[in-house]
Amino acid sequence: MVGMAMAMERIDDLEAALRRAYPELDALHDLAGGKPVYLVGGAVRDLLLGRGRADIDLVVEGDATALGTRLGGVVVEHERFATAKAQLGGHEIDIATARAETYPRPGALPEVEPTAGIAADLARRDFTINAMAIPLRRDPELIDPHRGFEDLDAGLLRVLHSRSFEDDPTRALRAARYAARFDFELEPDTADLLRHADLGTVSTDRRDAELLRLAGETEAVRGFGLLAEWGLIELGPERRELAGRVAGLLMESPWLEVAPRDRAVFAAATGQWGRAEELAAARPSLPSEAVALARGAGGVELVLARARGAEWLDRYLGEWREVRLELDGDDLIAAGVPQGPAVGRGLAEALRRKLDGEIGGRDEELAVALEAAGEGR
Ligand code: ATP
Repeated sequence: MVGMAMAMERIDDLEAALRRAYPELDALHDLAGGKPVYLVGGAVRDLLLGRGRADIDLVVEGDATALGTRLGGVVVEHERFATAKAQLGGHEIDIATARAETYPRPGALPEVEPTAGIAADLARRDFTINAMAIPLRRDPELIDPHRGFEDLDAGLLRVLHSRSFEDDPTRALRAARYAARFDFELEPDTADLLRHADLGTVSTDRRDAELLRLAGETEAVRGFGLLAEWGLIELGPERRELAGRVAGLLMESPWLEVAPRDRAVFAAATGQWGRAEELAAARPSLPSEAVALARGAGGVELVLARARGAEWLDRYLGEWREVRLELDGDDLIAAGVPQGPAVGRGLAEALRRKLDGEIGGRDEELAVALEAAGEGR
């Protein structure tokens, strides 16, 4: 995407742009006890793109927990390094101590050395467009040692050094997320390096966490398509199309709130069907059969099954799932049914016949339930 400069805040207006997007950060000028504080990462990138507010990440060349405490925040003593969360002007902010990282072996979590300067902190980051900082002081200048601004303008994702994907292959998944979201290209050397990325060195948890973030993007399907193109995941046309249909379904009633979109798109793209396959193959002929099949399935399984052709699930969701009896177990007990399995048997049979339109009204429900409860006693 060339010509981003049109949308980008002019660098000269950095202070004004910052104040417009994050007026609350003004308060930090005097609160850090003289230690330099920087806005970093996605918030800087999005500010320069003119995209408005993003999550605020701050780096302090000093003790993050001290600044967090001064702001009245919650200080999280992380196993490996101290970070803090605080509220400022009604927004949550993350604060970290500037740190340098080294990777003991490919794909492993990095060893962290705190109390580095901002330059070292930026040098550990994934792409140039995410490796910029703005010092929170009067008349700030963009700190951009890796020329991220140029790449932002040219629409390019560029790693900071040639071992980047080896150190942390999840960056390849992050590349797909940014490429899809911003419609950016891989800079040619980065594309070469990425082709050798080996996700096998990363734990499944870390890999899935990044894939889930990708699945939450508006352009998730395009992102998964890129990962397949880059040889990082298997994604045949069937899964790709399914992921698209799932994303579409979750924007329509009655599917809108059935499952979190990211989990459903993730499951579609990675082929984690669960019970969806069984539900998609089923052809229940009665509402009670549909309910028996679908009850107990998770929201993600339901959406996947619907996207794979189980149209009967529309009525399950819109009508049958909500059907309730007018009586409950206490009514049966009051009518003389002993506590225990007979109560459940009676209620289940009454519900089945109500669902299938064989009975209506409380009296008929009671008669059917008592009869069924009596059977096998
Ligand atoms: P989003 O806009 O999706 O929230 P973000 O850029 O804020 O994206 P985060 O995952 O919240 O991304 O990370 C914040 C910053 O931390 C990134 O901008 C990047 O500078 C850095 N970062 C995160 N993960 C990595 C990683 N695996 N390797 C290197 N740097 C990373």
